[in-house]
Amino acid sequence: MDLSFTAEEEAFRTELRSYLESTLPAEWSRPGFWDSIDRNDAFNRRRQWEAEKAKAGFAGIAWPKEWGGRGGTEGMKAIYDEEMTRARAPRGANQLGLTYLAPTVAVLGSEQQKRDIIGAILRNEEIWCQGFSEPGAGSDLAAIRTSGVQDGDEYVVNGQKVWTTQAVHGDKLFALVRTEPGSQRHQGLSLMLMDMDQPGVEARPITTMSGDQEFGEVFFTDARVPIESNLGGIGNGWQTAMLLLSFERGASAFGMYTAMRQQLAGIVAAARSTYRDGRTAAEDPVLRANLAAVVTELECLRYHSFHVLSATETGRDLGFEASMTKLQWSETMQDLFEAFDEILGPNVTVRQPFDDGAEISDLSALQNQGLYSRSVTIWGGSGQVQRNVVAERVLGLPR
Ligand SMILES: Cc1cc2nc3c(=O)[nH]c(=O)nc-3n(C[C@H](O)[C@H](O)[C@H](O)COP(=O)(O)OP(=O)(O)OC[C@H]3O[C@@H](n4cnc5c(N)ncnc54)[C@H](O)[C@@H]3O)c2cc1C
Repeated sequence: MDLSFTAEEEAFRTELRSYLESTLPAEWSRPGFWDSIDRNDAFNRRRQWEAEKAKAGFAGIAWPKEWGGRGGTEGMKAIYDEEMTRARAPRGANQLGLTYLAPTVAVLGSEQQKRDIIGAILRNEEIWCQGFSEPGAGSDLAAIRTSGVQDGDEYVVNGQKVWTTQAVHGDKLFALVRTEPGSQRHQGLSLMLMDMDQPGVEARPITTMSGDQEFGEVFFTDARVPIESNLGGIGNGWQTAMLLLSFERGASAFGMYTAMRQQLAGIVAAARSTYRDGRTAAEDPVLRANLAAVVTELECLRYHSFHVLSATETGRDLGFEASMTKLQWSETMQDLFEAFDEILGPNVTVRQPFDDGAEISDLSALQNQGLYSRSVTIWGGSGQVQRNVVAERVLGLPR
């Protein structure tokens, strides 16, 4: 395992760091800033800033140049994840398009689709949503019921998706649809490419417990989609979906590690300024032990990330082993915020006023991140499902 980056990669870090320092508005890291502005305005600012960053060459870092990427190394991608987090750059606006759709189009798409879709994703001209989950189909994705019935050279789509990230702000949707009436399970599905603002498609926001509306429900009522608006061929939706989901594999956790280190620093500061029974929480031996255990987990995650990076740099496809990375970072994040909950006690649920003079000026951001951490063992395959994958596909245990 290689624990260092090359000189070329470190030069990339310097260039990116200086780009971020010169373009990220200072007010964006002011405590409470994002909560103080209108949701649509917030999304449009993130979208626009990211589009400019792509024009400056800081998008699609390890993607080939022919897709509009930078043609960099996996090490540069890891550095990119670290530096974006370090600079507190806003979350990507087009994660589902970038992570899943663009690489799938590069493999399965027609030449026209490659031209139309990939560059527009990188430049944030089209924000994509993923329409897989339904009220009765989550971990058991093959239970999909949204139907597409052929009518001339179009499919007429009816049904419902749920937990659709960016449902409200998205421009497009890649949706798994049962296009063969009466088909069962993995058969008869197609990945249809749809417009979010076309007739018959209605997005409704869902508000999460942290007050965000990052996802929603999508209802289809006789929404018409041209037959050619599919990826991978009609009836091949399951294979297309499995390829698409595989692109999260190999993702290292450098960005997650850096974010959790920042959060840990805030949590330690909170422990030092929270008094219980005549002493600070930082002096309580049980709370100290909790934090020490999390630091150990975090350092294991860091070395695991280097292990994953070394493997991908040698061209090895991690395949199902990637489930171990997701399990490791998601459970570390929950342990981190459980330690935070113990430190604040019942006050963890009480929203703190913003106070620039306080030692922890953005406690409410940590509280929001704590609420968000509950979702990380659900999306992208739940913790239990990842364990099944590791047991059956990596360790070869019987079902
Ligand atoms: C923040 C967030 C963003 C999301 N974004 C999207 C999106 O953009 N597009 C999209 O399509 N979906 C999205 N999802 C949905 C996500 O993919 C599903 O929530 C997930 O697949 C789990 O499905 P479910 O919620 O139906 O839970 P279920 O599948 O009903 O699971 C319920 C419980 O049963 C357990 N379980 C299920 N099957 C097994 C099994 N075989 N063995 C052991 N335990 C099992 C699960 O681990 C879980 O604890 C998002 C979810 C979240 C939380």
